[in-house]
Amino acid sequence: MNSSNENKLDVSVQYVKSVGPKRAESFGKIGINSVKDLLFYFPSRHLNRTTVLKAAKAYGYVMDGYDGEVTIIGKVVDKEKKGFRNKEVFKVHLKDDTGFFECVWFRGIKYFQSAFNEGDIFAISSKPTIDKYGKLQFIHPDYDRITAEESDSFMHTGKIIPFYRIPKQLKEKHIGDWSLRRILTYAVDKYVDQIDETLPDEIISENKLMSLSEAVKNYHFPESEEKLNAAKYRFKFEELFYLELLVALRKHNYKTKLTGNKMEIKTNLVSDFLKTLPFELTKSQLKVLSEIKNDMLSEKPMNRLLQGDVGSGKTVVSLIAMLIAVDNGYQAVMMAPTEILADQHAKNISKMMAKLSGIHKEKTVKVSLLLGGQRKSLKSKSIKDVELKEADIIIGTHALFEEDVTLNNPGFIVIDEQHRFGVKQRALIQSKGKTPDVLVMSATPIPRTLSMTVYGDLDLSVIDELPKNRKPIITVLRGDRKLPEIYKFIVNKSNEGYQSFIVYPLVEESEKLELKAATDYYNLLKETYFKKLNVGLIHGRMNWLEKEEVMLLFLKKEFDVLISTTVIEVGIDIPDANIILINDAHRFGLSQLHQLRGRVGRSNKQAYCILVTKDGIIRQNFSGELKLDYLSPAQIEKYKSSVRLQTMVKHNDGFKIAEVDLKLRGPGDIFGTMQSGFPELKYANIVTDSELIFKTKKIAFGLIKKDPRLELQNNSVIRKNLLSHYSDNLKYAKIA
Ligand code: ADP
Ligand code: MG
Repeated sequence: MNSSNENKLDVSVQYVKSVGPKRAESFGKIGINSVKDLLFYFPSRHLNRTTVLKAAKAYGYVMDGYDGEVTIIGKVVDKEKKGFRNKEVFKVHLKDDTGFFECVWFRGIKYFQSAFNEGDIFAISSKPTIDKYGKLQFIHPDYDRITAEESDSFMHTGKIIPFYRIPKQLKEKHIGDWSLRRILTYAVDKYVDQIDETLPDEIISENKLMSLSEAVKNYHFPESEEKLNAAKYRFKFEELFYLELLVALRKHNYKTKLTGNKMEIKTNLVSDFLKTLPFELTKSQLKVLSEIKNDMLSEKPMNRLLQGDVGSGKTVVSLIAMLIAVDNGYQAVMMAPTEILADQHAKNISKMMAKLSGIHKEKTVKVSLLLGGQRKSLKSKSIKDVELKEADIIIGTHALFEEDVTLNNPGFIVIDEQHRFGVKQRALIQSKGKTPDVLVMSATPIPRTLSMTVYGDLDLSVIDELPKNRKPIITVLRGDRKLPEIYKFIVNKSNEGYQSFIVYPLVEESEKLELKAATDYYNLLKETYFKKLNVGLIHGRMNWLEKEEVMLLFLKKEFDVLISTTVIEVGIDIPDANIILINDAHRFGLSQLHQLRGRVGRSNKQAYCILVTKDGIIRQNFSGELKLDYLSPAQIEKYKSSVRLQTMVKHNDGFKIAEVDLKLRGPGDIFGTMQSGFPELKYANIVTDSELIFKTKKIAFGLIKKDPRLELQNNSVIRKNLLSHYSDNLKYAKIA
């Protein structure tokens, strides 16, 4: 590879013919500075023969009831503006060699008036209709201007025409569809052969890929539909290959960096603990336990994800693993995402350890809780520090690694509800000990292609069954007019010993408003419907001591009903709480609803989840696959809310729910919230390209196995490309 090629492409975009310094400035505003940037500014779509119809044919289609999108190329015959004030209509009449059609606008008329001029040729795309005079009509369509020559060669030779996204910074400098295509023609002609290849030759030939420069050329100006597809495939392949390579490097780095702790079963601490459990572990729990134990007993550091639906009993599994570490003289650390959850874990685990000390006299397992700001005064700091030093099990929030806490030989770290933490935090906490064994736990089931990538550097254990005797939670959807009846139901059930959560959503991202809703209802309900019940209130503005107090009272059954904001979302375990009423349920995301519902159904009593929403959302009746494109944003929101709520009613299984969630939200969104530390995908789709993900993963992992430091001559291309394009992502995956 000749590195001087790259330098030539790094020159300013102004040197491309017909750009110049002024236009280069506008390009700069949208991030296109060099020739190379320009070459990689790809079309958002292409006009090709399979998608273009003649006007007469389109007319026939619509008359026959077709209601999809079509594209027609036509020449502007004339334009007219009718009406006045708020009732203006702007129409453009166009024709092709088979007939006439028109485009109609009701808004932004001034702009369209100047965009359409007699004699210009446009490709018009949209869902057509027939107006009352029988005319073929497009309302507010997409349109792209093309030249007469382009139109000719399109018609006669089937040439494929690219269309680009043209941001306003370019429009301002009069760079439109035409001129951008012209500029790119010059750039591609002159520079495309100088692009350095970014994949090794063998990978290209073995996978029959297009070379990078061919792919760039064909992405802009494809010679054929097949070549366009081959070009797109090459970019997807490359993108996923590098993504999986980062995963492979991360995993390799961890596995080989240091030797971990080699533990053994020293005393009967663990077996004694098992005797104190009031239940038998499920088969699934036993299976994942043996996987975890194998890791701990080997000297390779453990880096494992424990996935299991809400209520599947992950905590006790992690506790048994912590006890193995304690048995070996290490501290075991558990990190939880919220103070309430950390507090709850500390309480439960302390209780269990007290029970254990009844039959296991040789060692008392000391449990300590660390929350943010707990060590404010000097005195409490030193007391706490001594306690921390002597503890066997430490439970805390992120304060564990954010404050200057010195742990005492932590050999095992559990991270609960991992989806709340990013790789960065994981790396940070791992740096606390020598090379501690790490177990991360998550109740958010995600499709395999996604977990394989986001958590690709972790080994995976799955708990795929719930403890015996659990009855499926009954979930219902009700309009808010039904609330009085629901309150009566809660009162009746309270008399039978049930406890209930009543949850209010976050209103417009404002904690203050959220608080208000919950407090207002608290005041109202305890004076009215729940006059005879004991009602508690918990919200995010309370400090952890206040929260702890409330949760404790609820656990002790001092309250029948707990009114709450979303602070109870993750992990909380109150076995006798068997009703959850979620208000304005349409405001919640699917995985959040599933987490909330997971707060109940944790015993062998029948549990209920009552989702309350607006009547208007319940009445929505969307059947089959809907083309969201034709709905207004408000309608789309309603549609999605309705699908989310119906899904909750239909499914109890977290995996099913995750699938729907992914469809509704799109993978990018989920990738983002996972704070994966991986680059965003531009070309590939983590859901629809699953086959290619498996393929590139295999190739990438094979390559790293053979050449983990990328030292082979063949792989120098990869190494160079990683360093120049993925340096940010390499933080957690070192290469030589
Ligand atoms: P999650 O996986 O959502 O974190 P938890 O660990 O909080 O679930 O467990 C949910 C409840 O199930 C707890 O009350 C726990 O004591 C109980 N539990 C765990 N394992 C079993 C089992 N094998 N049989 C019966 N109950 C169990
Ligand atoms: Mg949990």
